[in-house]
Amino acid sequence: MQVFSKTEKQNIKEEFNDLIVNCQRCNKREDKALINKAFNIANDAHDNMRRKSGEPYILHPIAVAKIATREIGLGVKSIICSLLHDIVEDTEYTLKDVEHNFGPKIASIIDGLTKISGVFDNKSSLQAENFRKMLLTLSDDVRVILIKLADRLHNMRTLDALPPHKQYKIAGETLYLYGPLAHRLGLYAIKNELEDLSLKYQHPKIFNEISKKLAATEKKRLQAINKFSLPIINALNKNNFHFEITGRTKSIYSIWNKMQQKQVSFDEIYDLLAIRVIFKPKPRMVEKTQCWNIYSIITDIYTPKPERIRDWISQPKANSYEALHVTVMGPSGQWIEVQIRSERMNEIAERGFAAHYKYKGLKSSESELDKWIKTIREHLSNPNSDALQFLDEFKLNLFSQEIMVFTPKGLLVTLPKGSTSLDFAYEIHSEIGNKAIGAKVNHKLVPLNYKLSSGDQVEIITSDKQKTQLEWLDYVTTVKAKSAITNSFKSEYKNRIFRGQKILESKLKELNISPSSHIFKKLFDGYNVSNKDELYSKIGSELISLDDIDKKLEKKSRKKWVKYWSIQLKSSTTKIDKKSKNKNNRKIKNPLIIDDAIGDADEKNIKYQIADCCNPIPGDDVVGFKSDEGITTIHQATCNEAIKLMSSRGDSIVPATWVSNKIMSFLIRLKIKGIDRDGIYFDLANVISNEFNISIRSLTLESKNGIFDGKVDCYVHGKDDITNLIDKLYKVNGIDEIIREEKFED
Ligand code: MN
Repeated sequence: MQVFSKTEKQNIKEEFNDLIVNCQRCNKREDKALINKAFNIANDAHDNMRRKSGEPYILHPIAVAKIATREIGLGVKSIICSLLHDIVEDTEYTLKDVEHNFGPKIASIIDGLTKISGVFDNKSSLQAENFRKMLLTLSDDVRVILIKLADRLHNMRTLDALPPHKQYKIAGETLYLYGPLAHRLGLYAIKNELEDLSLKYQHPKIFNEISKKLAATEKKRLQAINKFSLPIINALNKNNFHFEITGRTKSIYSIWNKMQQKQVSFDEIYDLLAIRVIFKPKPRMVEKTQCWNIYSIITDIYTPKPERIRDWISQPKANSYEALHVTVMGPSGQWIEVQIRSERMNEIAERGFAAHYKYKGLKSSESELDKWIKTIREHLSNPNSDALQFLDEFKLNLFSQEIMVFTPKGLLVTLPKGSTSLDFAYEIHSEIGNKAIGAKVNHKLVPLNYKLSSGDQVEIITSDKQKTQLEWLDYVTTVKAKSAITNSFKSEYKNRIFRGQKILESKLKELNISPSSHIFKKLFDGYNVSNKDELYSKIGSELISLDDIDKKLEKKSRKKWVKYWSIQLKSSTTKIDKKSKNKNNRKIKNPLIIDDAIGDADEKNIKYQIADCCNPIPGDDVVGFKSDEGITTIHQATCNEAIKLMSSRGDSIVPATWVSNKIMSFLIRLKIKGIDRDGIYFDLANVISNEFNISIRSLTLESKNGIFDGKVDCYVHGKDDITNLIDKLYKVNGIDEIIREEKFED
């Protein structure tokens, strides 16, 4: 360790004096005393410590404090925290010491600024955890992030001292997270500098090339600015405006970005130039009106590009940015952007968050930025998400552009671009999201995955019967909606398991069976599930009914479709199967007793067929009609055709009753109607295939405008099976109507 020299000590003193002397917000004696105290502690703690560059370490905290107060506009507490920000991590000094000296508030900010220590499996997750920890403090104090940005900015400004591989890593991290974060917090100047510095270390060649070209064309640009500004200056003066006009060149990073995006060369970028008019508002006049006055004056001189007006006055950006942007045709035939701002707007644009609070005060109505921070907080309060995933989602939300949509009452809701009606529903309230079944956008019915556009008026249609769907995760983009859906799913699943467990327990108790692994094995086999959770969840959601539990628990497991009935035949009957060619058609044997009073008494074998106008099955009231050829056709007693026959050919009526028989199955068709949703097909199929007596032949659903029409063909043994099945199908969420179709083409 190389002890500090006299000149170095002198330098430290000077730097600190510069901080405190030029600090506008630390005039109070006690504030100065506290800052002095913090400096002395930090100076002692970092004594004789050096940065990689060789300079005394304490110069770094001093520089961070300067950025925090001068460039971000933060106050005394932040200066103290900046001075102390590295002591817990790098020196013997502990958080307890900080709290003892400066109280809990400052200690908690320092804690937020201190990296997590400990061993992680890989470095990327440690980085993510550190970033998450920092963001967590957003819920306590946004100053942590602002100081962290100041810290990062100073590190970037002094990145020269580090070896290239570290430069590369830090620059990448800066570009990935800190740049977008600065942007989101409205710190444009810092964002630009962070991006430029990142580019400088990531792609030094490109950076140098663009810098050189900018420098080479600077004189030309200055001339252009002057030529362009002069008429504006004259006109504004004439209208008694107090203003300042500045020319501004695009940042190197944004030039490079544009070159890449549009695949153009440096010379092809025409909007390198922007002019900024910053005015002092005239007393007793609305700022907004004055902005438009200036707009009017400028567009009297230069022709505006109609599609390039950006009105951030009527509706500030989510990061609080306010200004009026207009692009006009300059005298040399190039488009030039003019940004019109009041002094207040300019300070918000330069200093972002801190200035925003200075003007609005903490108690003001919620700004977009506050809402954003609230969203982040809500997301952070979800302890389940893993750090890397969190970071990805967080970053997505940092980058996203916003759209503005309206509630039916005209309230403005800001959402990331690409948001759907379901995102909107969750933005309003998670319960509205969970119960959403559709939406009306500009009074037209749309599905939940409908992508919204700025200006849309959105109304959400809800139903108490609705349940969160897993597929919804594909519908939404906002972090808020995603975590709400995941949470609701988790709790819904847990509830189902809990419900199912209770139902099974009481059923077993009722049957006087104590649950054992042996019993569960039988239940798993019987209900075709693989574990307890699945069994409980299916019972809980009524996909498994325990009505037949005794059968499942019987020793011999039977095949699903075999069922033996006692045979009681008065006389033998033979069914004539019209579709016997069809391989899929199952053989049906002797299910009927036909009391052939009119036929030949000696004839023991009565031939019959099932009428295809009503397709009766065992359990239905039936009636037979004997034809001239001696074949009896069996109709449902209620069948219109049968009623007609009864009145016209009463002499050929043959009484018939079903007997329990060795029947395999009859084909029936159900027509189902309901509200379409993802997963409905699966749910229906599940209910049908879980039925002991039923095997499914086909299930088709056709959906139109959110309503589906379905057709189920399945084999049943009798009417009880159908009644039972219909009862269960009605319990499927969204089902509106189920009709047994009597006449159908096979
Ligand atoms: Mn630091």
